[in-house]
Amino acid sequence: MRSIVWFRGKDLRVADHEPLAVAAAAGEVIPLFVLDPWFFQPERAQALPHRMQFLLESLGALEASLARLGSRLLVVPGRSVEVVPRLAAHWRADQVLAHRWVEPFGRERDRRVDEGLARQGIAFRLFEGETLLPPGSVRNGQGTMFRVFTPFSRACRMRLDPGPARPVPGGLPPLPGDIEAATVAVPTLQELGLPLNPGLQSGGEGAAQARLKAFVGGPIKAYEPDRDRMDRPGTSRLSADLKFGTLSVRTVWQAAAAVGPGESVQRYHDELLWREFSHHLLWEWPDLLSKSFRPEFEGFPWREDERAWQAWTEGRTGYPVVDAAARQLLAEGFVHNRARMVAASFLAKHLLLDYRRGEAHYLRWLTDGDWAQNNAGWQWSAGCGCDAQPWFRIFNPVAQGLKFDPEGAYVKRWVPELASCPTAFIHEPWKAPKALRAGWDYPVPVVDHAVARARFLATAKGHLRRGKA
Ligand SMILES: Cc1cc2nc3c(=O)[nH]c(=O)nc-3n(C[C@H](O)[C@H](O)[C@H](O)COP(=O)(O)OP(=O)(O)OC[C@H]3O[C@@H](n4cnc5c(N)ncnc54)[C@H](O)[C@@H]3O)c2cc1C
Repeated sequence: MRSIVWFRGKDLRVADHEPLAVAAAAGEVIPLFVLDPWFFQPERAQALPHRMQFLLESLGALEASLARLGSRLLVVPGRSVEVVPRLAAHWRADQVLAHRWVEPFGRERDRRVDEGLARQGIAFRLFEGETLLPPGSVRNGQGTMFRVFTPFSRACRMRLDPGPARPVPGGLPPLPGDIEAATVAVPTLQELGLPLNPGLQSGGEGAAQARLKAFVGGPIKAYEPDRDRMDRPGTSRLSADLKFGTLSVRTVWQAAAAVGPGESVQRYHDELLWREFSHHLLWEWPDLLSKSFRPEFEGFPWREDERAWQAWTEGRTGYPVVDAAARQLLAEGFVHNRARMVAASFLAKHLLLDYRRGEAHYLRWLTDGDWAQNNAGWQWSAGCGCDAQPWFRIFNPVAQGLKFDPEGAYVKRWVPELASCPTAFIHEPWKAPKALRAGWDYPVPVVDHAVARARFLATAKGHLRRGKA
């Protein structure tokens, strides 16, 4: 049996990689990565610099791991819908194995690849693994997808039996001798015109495993009190690893479970189930990427305001937590979850700007930028999503700062202009004495919280009432 194992950017690992293990057990293995010239052209790569850096590092690590195991990753340029069926036929492969993707464009690609392979009598086998349970398989009593997280998570927990993660294979067969292909090297950041950002997490399976080990070895025990604190390193920071599959979600679930029962592990598992929820939602409703989950939000009168947009993206709104989030995003390709919620809510509700603009901006700059989770996070924050924050609840960025960054350490790290601001004013620096403020180059708020709140409520009420009429 000759199998092509098609790695595709969401499973850049050799541990707990079912297609690889199944192929190795069946016979000859050809590991393949298709390098789409459209995706890897400098212009396009520069539109997602952080994800590209992480991806290239992870691909490099995967190449090294496969070489250590006795095989080789073939990197072939072209469009996968054309390359995969052509090479599979040329190489006389019996089957092509890969992991299933949830996104609509990935599903469409796989449908076309499947058609191309089927025409040549070659099997295309998709394996689960992006999620803990197959997307579309968790249903309520009526046989439909849950619209509320808590019963969804309960149903997942009842069904979940992830079993142990598969270890790294002991070895792989060498590439068959008759394989020829016009392969290319994985491009460097430099070739794509991208500067290295030293603020990003390192990509690759080894770095991912080290992060997981460090997290389950300590911080997970205090996850429940610490996870919301923007000033503490209380979360796992595994989101990019889960996005690129340098760790499987099963590996992460099981590593947390092995810590033993307790509130923190339960809570951590819940967060993995929020991830699960967003993927199952997108599987069920692929048009979520362009439409609100709640149809009554369609046609919402978002404002056009370039000055406000610029202030939000540059971290110059005058609200320290919102600004810290904007700057952390650009510097680290990461934003603390609490800060994401506050910043996203601020954009949609305080500034009344279309949440989809913020969603695209996050997708551009986040290393963990994931279509399903990012969309769910934005729709939750704007109040138009599935089991979202109700539209009439509006985060007060000052109160959020006081509660989840009480000493202002998060703010001071990312908004250094406020380094000398006394803690008492750190979340509302405009209230500090004028003499102090004169020393800071920090803007006054772009909107007043109470005024912005009232404006959003009036706008949303008007829009939703019109929809009902
Ligand atoms: C506006 C907005 C946009 C977001 N965009 C993304 C995104 O593009 N990619 C992304 O991975 N997450 C996104 N999230 C969810 C969450 O903020 C991140 O997953 C989390 O901050 C990552 O940090 P961590 O790995 O330390 O999380 P931990 O707290 O350690 O959680 C463990 C894992 O659970 C998952 N998770 C945690 N919280 C959530 C959540 N609320 N929803 C879904 N999954 C969750 C992540 O995979 C995370 O790595 C977004 C949230 C919001 C509010």
